[in-house]
Amino acid sequence: MSTTPRSSLEIARASYRHISLYAPDRRPCAVDLSDNTNVWGMPPAAERAIREAATSSVTRYPELYSSRLKSALGDYLSVSPDQLVTGCGSDDVLDSAVRAFAEPGDRVAIPDPSFAMLPILAHMNGLEPVLVPLTASYDVDADAMLATDARIIYLCSPNNPTGTAFTRGAVERIIEHARGVVIVDEAYAEFANSSLLDLFRDNPRVLVSRTLSKAFGLAGMRVGYGVGSAELVAEVEKSRGPYKVNALAEAAAVAALTDGMDWVRQHVQLAVENRERLAAALSRMGLPPLPSESNFVLVPVANAVPLALRMRDRGVAIRPFDDLAPVSPALRATGGNAIRISVGPWDAIETTLSALRESLG
Ligand code: PMP
Repeated sequence: MSTTPRSSLEIARASYRHISLYAPDRRPCAVDLSDNTNVWGMPPAAERAIREAATSSVTRYPELYSSRLKSALGDYLSVSPDQLVTGCGSDDVLDSAVRAFAEPGDRVAIPDPSFAMLPILAHMNGLEPVLVPLTASYDVDADAMLATDARIIYLCSPNNPTGTAFTRGAVERIIEHARGVVIVDEAYAEFANSSLLDLFRDNPRVLVSRTLSKAFGLAGMRVGYGVGSAELVAEVEKSRGPYKVNALAEAAAVAALTDGMDWVRQHVQLAVENRERLAAALSRMGLPPLPSESNFVLVPVANAVPLALRMRDRGVAIRPFDDLAPVSPALRATGGNAIRISVGPWDAIETTLSALRESLG
């Protein structure tokens, strides 16, 4: 008699029926400006560290709680190592945080549109995502977020996929009145005009999450971190468990944060310059993007999915959306359709703009 269950659905958690696998189009493409990673590459110091670690560090377990990485991050951010929690990408930090600070059945308030993983992470942890539309100027709606009475409030600034930053006043208001933890996702902080990181200092319930996947060019290494009071980050660390940053990733991250900082700063500067040039070129085409403080721009445009497929046929990958919350006149005009274009070297952007022109017909 077989012991194999007849249907995996019968034994799965009921709350997992809502979850589908995260499935952006990742087929290789000659020019790929689809995922907001660092198209210039990574700091040479990180590449050297990976090669060295490959011959010396792989047969043993990595550090339990990434103390070398925390020390390098502490110097970068002027915070103490016990105010840091690391993870296998910031996805891992966000996942562990929503698990650490809510019981199954609790609500998580999430702005809309925002980072598509959050509702998935909420379901994965048995929580109920409550989507709260942004204001017409793409700011977080503080009163509507607070009205959810959610156990966890997630904020993302600069926000993916809009690229816009939330106003400090709205974020402070949320923090002041929230009943539970406020997570501030700053994955794109390095490209922004200002940061909300300091808010954790006076607010022991604020967790700021960040990543080395964007400005630092290490998306494939999967290194993210959270900053908060020592008591708060200790809870996230418990929820996440040990050994989650692998030895190669830790070596690469430490090298990037120490010997790689000149490279990182230069390429952030280039990204910001090219973002503004890209925005100007799109506006001249009659397709003004949203004002971005990140390393991508969001361009409201009708029929985004077929447009992206035609661009792919011309060797260019960008990220289409066809169901964004129509919070502004621009997004209402396209029925929630838009394309997100990451910033990279100017020749890649030129190729992308040509493919866009040709694909628009
Ligand atoms: N937050 C935001 C807003 C993102 O856009 C991303 C990546 N797309 C992440 C978190 C996750 O990044 P990672 O897991 O690579 O650190």
